[in-house]
Amino acid sequence: MNSGNYLEVFVLYSRPILHYSLHFLAPGLIAYIFWKSKWKQAWLIIIATMLVDLDHLLAQPIFDAERCSIGFHFLHSFPAMAVYAIMLFFPKLRIIAVGLLFHMLTDQIDCWLMNI
Ligand SMILES: [Zn+2]
Repeated sequence: MNSGNYLEVFVLYSRPILHYSLHFLAPGLIAYIFWKSKWKQAWLIIIATMLVDLDHLLAQPIFDAERCSIGFHFLHSFPAMAVYAIMLFFPKLRIIAVGLLFHMLTDQIDCWLMNI
């Protein structure tokens, strides 16, 4: 096995770990940095934004580890992201918007790693 293969194996096994830590733990950190006084609530709201993955139910097959969600699923499309960005301007929607945009970033990172 040459060094290139080691990188592939490393990415293969660390990708899901990185992905789910970014989905669950990083929002905790973001919540703590931006909404210190109510960070637990903010954390829960950000985690709840993972419901955007429900759009996968409309896809065939529902789950495909080798498929990039970004630009594929309805709620992971670029027009949808534009809406999330606009939501940032409304204080009541801001936590949700941050959660959604961070979710998109997390999924995008996954897509980049998929192609290593
Ligand atoms: Zn997603």
